[in-house]
Amino acid sequence: MYEQLSSLREAEQAEWLTTELVALDSTNGSAGEIEISNYIHKLIRSFPYFQKHPEHVWLQTIPNDERRNVFAFLPGTANAEVTILYHAHFDTVGIEDYGALSGQAFDPKALLAFFTDYTKNTEIREDAASGDWLFGRGATDMKSGIAVHLVNMFRYAERERPSGNILLLITADEESEHAGMKAAVSELRHLQTEKGLRYIAAINDDYIAPQYEGDDTRYMYTGACGKILPCFYIAGKESHVGDTMARLNPTSIASQLNLDLHNNIQITEQLDDEFILPPTCLYQRDNKKMYDVQTATSAYMYFNVCLYERSVDEATAELLNIAKTSAETVGKEYESRYIDYMKRMGREPKTLDWSIEVTTFNEFKNYLQTLNAPVADVIEQTSQTFAHLDIRERFFKIVEALQALDPARKPRVILFFAPPFLPHNYLEEGNQNHARVLEALSETLDVSEKISGETYRIRRFFPFISDSSYLAIHESDDELAALLDNFPRWGEDYAIPVDEIRKLNIPALNMGVYGKDAHQWSERLYKPFSFRVLPGLIRDVTARLFGNSYERQG
Ligand SMILES: [Zn+2]
Repeated sequence: MYEQLSSLREAEQAEWLTTELVALDSTNGSAGEIEISNYIHKLIRSFPYFQKHPEHVWLQTIPNDERRNVFAFLPGTANAEVTILYHAHFDTVGIEDYGALSGQAFDPKALLAFFTDYTKNTEIREDAASGDWLFGRGATDMKSGIAVHLVNMFRYAERERPSGNILLLITADEESEHAGMKAAVSELRHLQTEKGLRYIAAINDDYIAPQYEGDDTRYMYTGACGKILPCFYIAGKESHVGDTMARLNPTSIASQLNLDLHNNIQITEQLDDEFILPPTCLYQRDNKKMYDVQTATSAYMYFNVCLYERSVDEATAELLNIAKTSAETVGKEYESRYIDYMKRMGREPKTLDWSIEVTTFNEFKNYLQTLNAPVADVIEQTSQTFAHLDIRERFFKIVEALQALDPARKPRVILFFAPPFLPHNYLEEGNQNHARVLEALSETLDVSEKISGETYRIRRFFPFISDSSYLAIHESDDELAALLDNFPRWGEDYAIPVDEIRKLNIPALNMGVYGKDAHQWSERLYKPFSFRVLPGLIRDVTARLFGNSYERQG
């Protein structure tokens, strides 16, 4: 492997490596995801430096998993503790999107031939005909990113060692549960405490893409958005259709909450020149199993909510407020419909209670405890009984079992959280270290803009979910409590290593390979930027970052 690489020039090395890596099917969850880590490990081991220092490249087995992360450590010439983490992921999404062409999904040459004659889409055909694009599953997301990091490791190891340390990490399972990065946290912490490494920045090179048609700006990101999954368990009051006017239907409350939250840009964070996603309803059901003339007794819903600057406690407070407003709206509306109806029927309306309690999982548990209800036992038992269910469904069962403990059985909305949880990671204003990272990136891009003719723009939040989220936690314990206290079975059915991540707190850059249509069968990588410009760009920012940190020490 070393022989092949050393006979090639840099851009050719990157292309050769990308093609080799694309040829290895490492679909998330497949056996190939295990094999590819062996391949990368062996490849790095073939570099003369790592032949001499085999202890500097190793595989980390992910606990309760067969998959393994690849690590390689290259000490800097200055014998210092300052370290930059280069990271990428080796898993890809599946190949169902290739349809009849799935036999060629890992064969860039065959795909290129196919798309060069593809008459159904001019842009794809022209890209293929230009010779500048490399097709294949994972070409863009992100085998090419691994290739770029490997090319730089190769150069650093064999020719020009930087002053600071480079730690390379290639993770499994980025496209699903981030098991690779979550496990890597303990290894990163181990190196931090045992070897005394000080991580000044992480550089991910996951793909960047045009933001609109004809956009060829190269966006460089200084952080990653976070993500929470707020869930609402909604208990109404069941009724027969015959007395529907006097009861609260939980599906009405869910519908109102859906309207109030889904795609609501009023409550979406406003950050200049950033791509920001509003809350999205991912799930809305009720508990009816079959037809009968009784209304549903409960409804379940959850939302995808991205966090940029907003902290989890602020988001929780806001979600709770919105749910209160939704519940009030529904209560008032149905009360007035009831009164109108009774008048129309020539009867006197009764004074009914239309209030809907809106509470959090934690508050509700506390309330039940004042009634001496067996809260902990019920949670434990329900979790075991429904261990086979999707974790979110299981959590709904838990909350439902708690609602059944309340003798009052009030109509109620209970907010709780379910997996996944991705912390946000961004450069903070007023943080000197963060300012230096931003400065290093800006200077690098300014210089490159003049030499390469590329147009760059720095943005704060990588627009897709990313492993980089697990490298920092900005919230204090108190702020985080809003999430963790309302997360059923945190630490038992699900957890992320919050304290360890906080001790890492690594600012995360994403300087990505450039491509189009990731996760689609037309996935393709733009070679001129990704292979000829990006490797040098990452080396330049690396050198500036190491320069910065020495100033700081001096
Ligand atoms: Zn990716």
